[in-house]
Amino acid sequence: MLKEIAKVIKEGDASGNGMLLRMKLPSGIEIFGLPTENAYGGDWDLGPTWNYLVMLEKPFLVDTGRLGMGRTLMEMMKAVGMEGKDLDSVLISHGHEDHDGALAEMVERTGAKVKAHPVYDRLIRYYPENAPPDFRKGFPALCWRCFMPESFISENCLEYHRTRSRLKIEAVHEGKGELTGAVDVYHVPGHSPDALAMIIGGEAILVGDTVLPGISPWPTQEAFFHPLKEILSPDYRHPEEIFGLRAYIRSLKRLKEIGRKFGKLLVLPAHRLFYENQWNEVVLEKRVDELVEHHIQRCTAVLKIVRQKRKTARGIAQEHFDERQLKGYGILMAENEIVSHCELLEACGDIRTAGDHHYLATGTTNFESYIRSL
Ligand SMILES: [Zn+2]
Ligand SMILES: [Zn+2]
Repeated sequence: MLKEIAKVIKEGDASGNGMLLRMKLPSGIEIFGLPTENAYGGDWDLGPTWNYLVMLEKPFLVDTGRLGMGRTLMEMMKAVGMEGKDLDSVLISHGHEDHDGALAEMVERTGAKVKAHPVYDRLIRYYPENAPPDFRKGFPALCWRCFMPESFISENCLEYHRTRSRLKIEAVHEGKGELTGAVDVYHVPGHSPDALAMIIGGEAILVGDTVLPGISPWPTQEAFFHPLKEILSPDYRHPEEIFGLRAYIRSLKRLKEIGRKFGKLLVLPAHRLFYENQWNEVVLEKRVDELVEHHIQRCTAVLKIVRQKRKTARGIAQEHFDERQLKGYGILMAENEIVSHCELLEACGDIRTAGDHHYLATGTTNFESYIRSL
C-alpha cells in the first residue's frame, strides 16, 4: 500500500534523512512524511524521527523531531506548500526528546496550538515539593526516574525542559473526534505513559514509537509510577495501567485488534519507515505478534539466567546482552530493559526480589501464558 500511495518529493540519504514524502490516502487526505535527523548513532541508531503533517481542514503536525529541528521542519513544510501560519496544531505522539525536542521552537515560529495526552501535560511540569531530594528537584516529573546520569541530563536537557514547561497543552483524550471528525485517537501507554496512536480517515494509523519496524521499542518500568503517583491524575491508581511491560503488551494487543477492525491500514511509524535504502511496510497484526514474541523470548532468557544464580538487573543485563550493546550508555538502557522484564516475571510469580536488589527464581514458568492472556 505504501508504494502505491507514497511519492518521494525529495530524495534523502540511506536512512531517510533529508527525504520528503507525500502520501495521498484513497479518500484524498494527504499526509506528508518529514523525517528529521536524530542524535544517536551506532548500535542504538533509530534512524530519523518521522514527523507527519496531516492535511485535514485544520492541518496538524504530529511530532517535531529533536531540539534544534525547528528550522529544518519549517523548510520542509514550506517545500510541501505549507505556511507556518496555516498550521493549526502540533500533536505530540509521546514525550520523548526525539519527538517533542523542537516543540517550543515550532510553537514560537508558527503560533500553532499544542495537543497531547493529559499525562504529558502533567509530566512536563516542575513539582519541587514532590521531587526526589537531590539534583532532580530542578527537573520536571518526567525526569525523576530517568536512567541517564546527571552529567548527561544537565548538559543536554535543561533548556529543553524549561521552555517546554512553559507551553500550554490542550488535552487529547482517547476517542473519536478529539482532533477532528476524521481522526480516532487511542491511548497506548507502555513505551511512554502518554503515548498516542491515531487513525486518519480510517485509512492510515500513526503509531509513534509503539510499533517500529526492525527494532523493538523499549518499555518503561512500572517503578517509574511510584514517585509520580501524587502528581498524576487519580484516574491512574496502579503502575501497570500506564507504565511497564504489561501496559506495553496490552497496548500492542489493542493495536492488533484495531488493525483487525479497520482491515487494511497504512502504518506510519515514527522511526525507520525508510532505512538502509529500504521501505518498511508494517503489517500491524504481524508486527505486533513479532514484538510480543520478542518479549516472551527475552523473559525466557532472563528467567534462565536467574535460575542459575540470583542476580541484580545489571548482572542479568551483562550476561544477556553482548558487549557491543553495553558500551557507554548502552548498559543503562540494557538494565532498564531487564528491569521491565523482571517486573513482569515478578507479577506472574516466576521470580521474586531479595532485599539486596537481587532476583531469585521461584521455580514456576507462568510468564508465557500470562503474556498471552494480557
Ligand atoms: Zn520514544
Ligand atoms: Zn522515538
